[in-house]
Amino acid sequence: MPGRGFEPPRDLTPTATSTRRVCQFRHPGLLLGGDRGDLRDSIQTRRIEEKSGTIAAPMASIVCKFGGTSLADASQFRKVRAIVESNPDRRYVVPSAPGKRTPDDQKITDLFYLCQAAAAQAVSFDEVYGRIRDRYEQIVSDLGLTGKTDLPQALDRVRDDIRNGADKIYAASRGEYLNSLIVAAMLDCEAVDAADVIAFKSNGQLDMEQTRGKLAERVGKLDRAVVPGFYGAGPNGQIFTFSRGGSDVTGALVAYGVGASIYENWTDVSGVLMTDPRIVSNPKKIEQLTYRELRELAYMGASVLHDEAIFPARAANIPVNIRNTNDPDDPGTMIVSDNQADLSVNTGNITGIAGRRDFTVFALEKSLMNNEVGFGRKLLSVFESHGVSYEHTPSGIDTMSVVVADSQVEGKIEALLDDIRAECKPERLNVLPNMAVIATVGRGMASTPGMAAQVFTALAKAKVNIRMIDQGSSEINIIVGVSTDDFETAVQAIYNAFVNE
Ligand code: ASP
Repeated sequence: MPGRGFEPPRDLTPTATSTRRVCQFRHPGLLLGGDRGDLRDSIQTRRIEEKSGTIAAPMASIVCKFGGTSLADASQFRKVRAIVESNPDRRYVVPSAPGKRTPDDQKITDLFYLCQAAAAQAVSFDEVYGRIRDRYEQIVSDLGLTGKTDLPQALDRVRDDIRNGADKIYAASRGEYLNSLIVAAMLDCEAVDAADVIAFKSNGQLDMEQTRGKLAERVGKLDRAVVPGFYGAGPNGQIFTFSRGGSDVTGALVAYGVGASIYENWTDVSGVLMTDPRIVSNPKKIEQLTYRELRELAYMGASVLHDEAIFPARAANIPVNIRNTNDPDDPGTMIVSDNQADLSVNTGNITGIAGRRDFTVFALEKSLMNNEVGFGRKLLSVFESHGVSYEHTPSGIDTMSVVVADSQVEGKIEALLDDIRAECKPERLNVLPNMAVIATVGRGMASTPGMAAQVFTALAKAKVNIRMIDQGSSEINIIVGVSTDDFETAVQAIYNAFVNE
């Protein structure tokens, strides 16, 4: 189920029909590893500073990030203004670049990429740049802001920079930069250039500590401000961006830096659905989910905001609220930490169901396998030596299986089989393709008897054969492997067992 497992049906107002997903990307490297440790340390330090009164505890404030479809044209900008002005706590706004107005429209960011690619080949980009200019100028004039922004000069400067050889990262970042000038003029507040407050190291990794300090110092002291999403700058002023869709990260960073009470992520859907609407018609929306549940669901293929995109908010325990710019009265989905979650609401219930097709099972049998010290290690090291990452290892007394995604073993199956035979000497070795893996996720299932039985009974009633069962030690998921042909029937059966019965 790659893709849109969790997107509610879109609001089909003509200005908001983009195909943008809530978020579907990963942020390699720069968001992982050491930086998380740095972040935890800095949060710890901040708490100690707050307790000891060295720094002032933050005022109530909400950071609102608006995605590209929320800022695709002037009518969308007006919705943004109404949302921000309806709550005085909404003090900090993080805009994306203007996105698609209709499904076949182009995102401003993509137009900037085109301009830079043309310039790099010494081809004229005037026509494409003209389209960028027209989009921005149309928005400014429709909002009655002509003459009240620095946009015309900024557009000239960016054009010259691209003409003079600016790289593609710089070009891509300009969509947000220019948009922030308009949003700030519309809201009558200051635009703080992300290059001044989102700090990268010279190797392109995010510098959390510097970013926090700069945001607290430069943005947190302002009553209201706009900070463009998606980019920041390295020590020499060189522009760096996050992965595509990365304004979500900026929003989470600003929330962290100013100590926001909530991070609102405004998009064109009303939150996260319990399961894929292409499999279950009209699935219920999830009102509240925890970061851990989000991670499980996102990993299993649901198209939701990835936890990597909001890790600064998570680390600082700032709830994230996914909201719909086209339906601002809908409370959306709230993502919270475990200790903020309302457990009573979910006890005995599930939060969502996600799944992925295209897995292959390597099944081994060997008498007295359970006595052979190191058998599992030998088997897994074969996969490791071929650079294959595995998902599950269900085992019996004399059997052990390794479940891997098809994409991991493409073109490697024969070599893997040879090496497994040589290393492990199994009596039987089978490769079983066409498996789908389905995760039923819910914090409410931990220590609630009968939840697994409900899943298995539903599958039995639907005549779905279960090929694998796995449960993480956190007890917030039950994972089953079924034949790919049974995938949709299985998801429907589990959903109906918990929601409709
Ligand atoms: N404008 C950037 C993109 O198209 C970043 C974002 O929208 O979040 O990916």
